[in-house]
Amino acid sequence: MGGGRAEWFSVKRFDVRSLRFDERNEAWRRFPVEVEPFVLGGAPYDVRGGQVDLSLSAGRVGERLTLTVSFSATLRGPCDRCLETAEIPVEVRAVEVVRRGESEGADPDEAYVRGSILDIHAWVRDLIASALPERMLCSEGCRGLCPICGANLNTEPEHTHEVTGS
Ligand SMILES: [Zn+2]
Ligand SMILES: [Zn+2]
Repeated sequence: MGGGRAEWFSVKRFDVRSLRFDERNEAWRRFPVEVEPFVLGGAPYDVRGGQVDLSLSAGRVGERLTLTVSFSATLRGPCDRCLETAEIPVEVRAVEVVRRGESEGADPDEAYVRGSILDIHAWVRDLIASALPERMLCSEGCRGLCPICGANLNTEPEHTHEVTGS
């Protein structure tokens, strides 16, 4: 789909009743969603560009609406070993089932659709948080910091300390 109409404003909430379904009862939208920097376990994270380019597809069967979102993003946060910024590309995809304008079978904290309004901002934020890897590494071979003085061993591979005392 080249040259689709661009929507430059960031979308926070989306009325699912505004979806226009085709003859197969499917609809498709794409829009940018802002992702604010956040702190997890005391460490700061963000998404490169500050937003994701989200694709939303919807399928309708009777009163049941299945929403699928997908996006790719580059997560940034401190490397577990050297504390420099690590960048981790992620592909995210998630599904929400909606019946009569309400998220179905979700725990209330994870009901992203209420009264036909999709809280796309909260959904994306939660998906980003759950996409964070267990270990954030700037590279697989990161050498980390010197345990004695904290020097970055990636930039100073020859770094050593004289062993004193004889
Ligand atoms: Zn590192
Ligand atoms: Zn050192």
